[in-house]
Amino acid sequence: MSFPTEVPGSGYEIVVFENKFPSFRQAPPEPAVDGTDIMSVKPARGVCEVVLYTDRHHTTFADLDTSHITNLIEVWTDRYNELGALDYIDYVLIFENKGDAVGVTLHHPHGQIYAFPFIPPIPEKELESSSEYMKATGKCLLCDVLSFELDDRRRIVAENPGFVAVVPFYARYPYEIHVIPRCHKSALPDLDTGERQWLAKMLKTVTCGYDHLFGFSFPYMMIMHQAPTSQGDFGHYHFHIEFYPPYRTATKLKYLGGCESGGGTFINDTLPEETAEKLRAAVGRGFSAGALLPNSCAVVGKGERGGGAGGSG
Ligand SMILES: [Zn+2]
Ligand SMILES: [Zn+2]
Repeated sequence: MSFPTEVPGSGYEIVVFENKFPSFRQAPPEPAVDGTDIMSVKPARGVCEVVLYTDRHHTTFADLDTSHITNLIEVWTDRYNELGALDYIDYVLIFENKGDAVGVTLHHPHGQIYAFPFIPPIPEKELESSSEYMKATGKCLLCDVLSFELDDRRRIVAENPGFVAVVPFYARYPYEIHVIPRCHKSALPDLDTGERQWLAKMLKTVTCGYDHLFGFSFPYMMIMHQAPTSQGDFGHYHFHIEFYPPYRTATKLKYLGGCESGGGTFINDTLPEETAEKLRAAVGRGFSAGALLPNSCAVVGKGERGGGAGGSG
């Protein structure tokens, strides 16, 4: 067994430490070159952390039990709060790269946290759209998207009282899944105890479902999109978790080509309605997301709309 030196031995549940090869540092060196009017430079001030999910080396996220995942969600929440409170941090990006196919070098179940001194472009674009939609309609964009998906049902992969997993209408990867809270929450600290448990069950369901899809441990990138921690009102933004698996069949990887990398436009040759159906079947062979119980503030589809359920709160 060869543990990389930064991994402690055993006898811990979840460990967080600073990345040994950080892209950002709390005390960064001066930029290597001087900036100019057209080429500006800044010190790479931020924080990069590694989160070891468990001390069991030969496991993956999908092997964690839901109470362990609930504790992990509390760790993520704590790191979001603590790093976000630093005055030079505008955005806390929590993510996991899993599997050789996405270039993982540390073979121990782990995720990462990048605390950015700016809002990265993909969340920034989502924030813009969310804010514009709120201004135009007075409603939350993702609450409405979720309501649309719950009405349509064809792209739903799994649901429980707290969360819905869906292959979004606008999926870029064939087996992309977004995990969306039914209640309007902007970031992890907004979740209550019950929602943290429902999220743990949903993440277990999705990761087990992925492993059952083609019968091997399924690589993915998992990215949390939360409200920024910079100054501003981000109450319009709806937290969610995106999974990007690189496989488009059991044996073929999706490579980003010229159209994706240079044109910024994803070509997806599968229908989300069809991949969602396969994922539903795979989820059915794995861990169950939990019984459907009533949840008073949950977003529901028009067809299932009864008294009292509202879009946002
Ligand atoms: Zn919402
Ligand atoms: Zn997103």
